Amino acid sequence: MPASPKILILGAGGFIGSHLLERILTTTDRQVIGIDIQSSKIEHLLDSERLTFAQLNVHDTRAVTEYIEQADIVISLVALCNPALYNTIPLDVIDINFNRPYELVKVCARMGKWLIHFSTSEIYGRTIASYTGLSYEEQEPKNYLLNEDETPLVLGPISNQRWSYACAKQLLERVLYAFAFEKGLQYSVIRPFNFIGPRMDFIPGVDGEGTPRVLACFMEALLFHKPIRLVDGGLNRRVFTYIDDAVDALMCMLRHPDQAKGHAFNVGNVANEISIADLARKMVATYKDLRPEFSECDFEINVVSGKAFYGEGYEDSDRRVPDIAKARELIGWEPKTGLDRALRNTMRAYIEQYASAAACRKAC
Ligand code: UDP
Repeated sequence: MPASPKILILGAGGFIGSHLLERILTTTDRQVIGIDIQSSKIEHLLDSERLTFAQLNVHDTRAVTEYIEQADIVISLVALCNPALYNTIPLDVIDINFNRPYELVKVCARMGKWLIHFSTSEIYGRTIASYTGLSYEEQEPKNYLLNEDETPLVLGPISNQRWSYACAKQLLERVLYAFAFEKGLQYSVIRPFNFIGPRMDFIPGVDGEGTPRVLACFMEALLFHKPIRLVDGGLNRRVFTYIDDAVDALMCMLRHPDQAKGHAFNVGNVANEISIADLARKMVATYKDLRPEFSECDFEINVVSGKAFYGEGYEDSDRRVPDIAKARELIGWEPKTGLDRALRNTMRAYIEQYASAAACRKAC
């Protein structure tokens, strides 16, 4: 029997990479090479005989090229994907999300490897509906439902540097498409819709600095009894997708390579759409449920402007609702985890990881 294709995961030590690695090692017989600068999230997997882990910077193209040569499939997860950075260090954002992965695309094209690249739902930018002045209840699906192959990509002006990330990611997708067109590159793209789950992000002052994504911001507020801050009132909406469902999508691609190649896929759970203000209220209720000792506490929820929270040049995506018909039809993917369970599992993991740091800080 031919050996199953060897997989190289770039960014194997991150949030998505750690879950993907775990699933591949526990449910398949595949050999995996993992590359990352850190391994703290995958310590429990490092003993696996089927894993070769190399602790190095994935942008060390020369070293990484040697590993690419050994693999059949390259999964690229490396990104700077935190909105607090897009308008504050846009040059790094463009470098890490475009220039460096471009080198990787060239190597994969030359060596004939299947490159599975993680892009972003942010490349859709703002919806057409956001310019109609209608409330979200009145909007027509054709103006907000995001389809991989039809929806225009609507980014704001250059001075709104929030879009540096979306633009870099979009250009990389265009490069992948062009390499397939001109040089026969085998590629697939995943566009994640706000994946959540254990091991995501950091808590400022505990294991990182700066502003993480919304879920970690709200968890920091809950754990450390700080006000929750709703940027511009929290009116914008997101679809939160549980990491197990996200990993399912990747596994479906690996099972159906011929259907997956040459396509971008939205990976998002439409049933989990919620406004950020409602998310805050839901997280407060879930937190009280998970930690009954705080059930009588009041958690303050404040409104803050985008400029005050993120700085000059911030502009938000108003709504991100994926059309997932293509993933359903071509690779048989269907998300299963509702928002309640996704949030509970993620918040429980945060509590397990950070509650003692929070208790210590209060005591000190
Ligand atoms: N947001 C918020 N309060 C916070 C952090 C984020 O209201 O403490 C908002 C942010 O303005 C955006 C949404 O939450 O509308 C999601 O932000 P996130 O950082 O998760 O990334 P995005 O989905 O925009 O890529």
